[in-house]
Amino acid sequence: MNIPTEWMPKVSMLRIICHWTAGGHKASEFDREHYHLLIEDDGRLIRGIPSIADNVNIADGKYAAHTKGCNTGSIGISLCCMAGAVESPFSSGKAPMTRAQWDALVNAVAELCRQYKIPVTSKTVLSHAEVQANLGIPQRQKWDIARLSFDPSVKGAKACGDKLRAEVTAKLKG
Ligand SMILES: [Zn+2]
Repeated sequence: MNIPTEWMPKVSMLRIICHWTAGGHKASEFDREHYHLLIEDDGRLIRGIPSIADNVNIADGKYAAHTKGCNTGSIGISLCCMAGAVESPFSSGKAPMTRAQWDALVNAVAELCRQYKIPVTSKTVLSHAEVQANLGIPQRQKWDIARLSFDPSVKGAKACGDKLRAEVTAKLKG
């Protein structure tokens, strides 16, 4: 599924930060307040309440607050999943991330990279769990996305981020 053009206002954005909601498989109004785009368990795209354009300048307080200290110029996209999940010992909780969600994320991020001319690097396409290490901006122990429910062999924020970037890069070339 493509992102509708009207969901991608022509503004300048610097990076894409990928999250999970730590909620259920469907986007709630609460979930929609915090991100520009959400992806439900079947891969369906949902538009968040703030517009991407709201994150060009956050001084008016009207923007998607998805990453502490890193919302300006940052597109926030989130997978609707992982309610009740535990990092260690790992448990996906009652709404595990689905492969359909991941595949839709790869597609959506590739489309956003193309639209906003964002290069695929570890500082410009990354998960919330990588923000502290890759951008040096402290976060409160965020581990989205450091595990993939459908592929337990991929472990850790960097491994998940590298997989995302590799698949997005392949999609952009294809
Ligand atoms: Zn997050």
